[in-house]
Amino acid sequence: MLATTNVSPLTQKYLDREEQYGAHNYHPLPVVLSRGEGVFVYDVDNKRYFDFLSGYSAVNQGHCHPAIISALTEQAQKLTLTSRAFHSDLLGEYAEYITKYFGYDKVLPMNTGVEGVETALKLARKWGYEVKGVEANKAKIIVCSENFHGRTLNVVSFSTDPSSTTNFGPFMPGYEVVAYNDLAALEAALQDKNVVGFLVEPIQGEAGVVVPGEGYLAKAAALCKSARVLFIADEIQTGLARTGKMLACDHEQVHPDILILGKALSGGVLPIAAVLANDEIMLTIKPGEHGSTYGGNPLACKVAMAALQVLKDEKMAENAEARGQQLRDGLNALNHPNISTVRGKGLLNAIVINHANKDAAWDLCLQLKENGLLAKPTHGDKIRFAPPLVITEAQVEECIDIIRRSLSHIE
Ligand code: PLP
Repeated sequence: MLATTNVSPLTQKYLDREEQYGAHNYHPLPVVLSRGEGVFVYDVDNKRYFDFLSGYSAVNQGHCHPAIISALTEQAQKLTLTSRAFHSDLLGEYAEYITKYFGYDKVLPMNTGVEGVETALKLARKWGYEVKGVEANKAKIIVCSENFHGRTLNVVSFSTDPSSTTNFGPFMPGYEVVAYNDLAALEAALQDKNVVGFLVEPIQGEAGVVVPGEGYLAKAAALCKSARVLFIADEIQTGLARTGKMLACDHEQVHPDILILGKALSGGVLPIAAVLANDEIMLTIKPGEHGSTYGGNPLACKVAMAALQVLKDEKMAENAEARGQQLRDGLNALNHPNISTVRGKGLLNAIVINHANKDAAWDLCLQLKENGLLAKPTHGDKIRFAPPLVITEAQVEECIDIIRRSLSHIE
C-alpha cells in the first residue's frame, strides 16, 4: 500500500498560506516545523521527528546548539554589521582562527554557499591572468557532470541538470564539463593551456551522494598540480565533519588550492560562507574588486568561530564516521528488495529506490514522516540520509527501525 499524507487542519492552514503567497520554487514535504533541538525537529502539532536532512547539511552541529546560539545572542546585542567600509573587532580574530584551523594564508568571507563558489571562480580567473599568464578573457574552468554548486546564472551556466538551466539562458562561457570520477577526461581537458581551475565536489551531494572511486581526488589534485591548474574543492555540503573527517578531501590527504565552505559554518543559524586560499591566489583580488555588504560581519564571525569550535570539542567527525558506518551496515542488513544501493561516507548517505512506481521514493518519505523521520528525495529515486552529527548509537538503531517499518508500505 502506498503512503497517504496525513495532514492536520492546523498544518494545512500553514501549507495553504505559503502556497498562496510564496513562490513555488520548492516542493517540500507537507510538514510544518516550528522548533528544533539537536537531532530533532517538532511540527506545529508538536509531533517530534528525526531530522535526516539537517538543512542540506547546514545543521551538522544539531539544531540550536547551545554554544552557537549563545555566541549568536551575545554578539547580537553588541554589534551585528559594520560593512567592510570599517573594521570590526572580530574580523581579524575570525580570519586568524579559520585560516589556522584549515591551514591557509587568507580567508575571504561571504554569506551563501553560491557566493563562495562565485568568489572561488573569480579568484581562479584573476590568478589565471595575473599569475599564470593566461591571455585576456581566455580563462577556462573545468567542472564535472551532474555538479551542483548553487543557483546563480553563472553557476547554473555549467550545470548539466535541465531543471537548473531550462529557459534561463544565455549562459556564461568559459567552462568545460568533464565526466565526474573520470581521470582520463580530466587529464585530456587539462591539456588546454588556458585552463585555470578545476571545480569539484569531493562527493556529489545533490546528485544523490555520488562517491567517486578511491584515489580520484588525490589523482585529480596531482594532475591539476602538474598542469598548473588550481584544484578548487566545493566542500559546502561535504565539509565540516559531515563525511567523517573535517573535510572530505582529508580522506585522501588533499589540500585544495581553493577551499569553499558554507552551510554548517554557522550550524544552521545564518548564511555564512568562506573561501580559503594562499596569498599567491588571494592577493590577486584588490580593494574594490569583490565583496559583499554582509560578508565577514561581526555576528557571522562570532557564530562561525563557535560553530567550528563545537565540531572539534564534541568530536563530531569521529561520531559521523562511527554512526555513518552503523547506519549503512544497518540499512544493508535490511536486505530490502526496494533498496538497490546504500552509499555514502560518514553521515552523508543515500539509498537508491528500486521500484516500478516512479513516485516510490516520495511515498517512502511520506511514510517516514508518519513514522517520525524527515528525509527528502533527490533526483526522483534517491533519498539522502544525513542527520545532525550529534546523533547517538541508540538513535541510529531507532531510525533504522523506522526506515524498516516504513519500507513495508511501498513493497
Ligand atoms: N555547493 C554545494 C556542493 C551545495 O550542496 C550547495 C547547496 O546545496 C551550494 C553549493 C549552494 O549553497 P547555497 O544554497 O547556500 O547558495
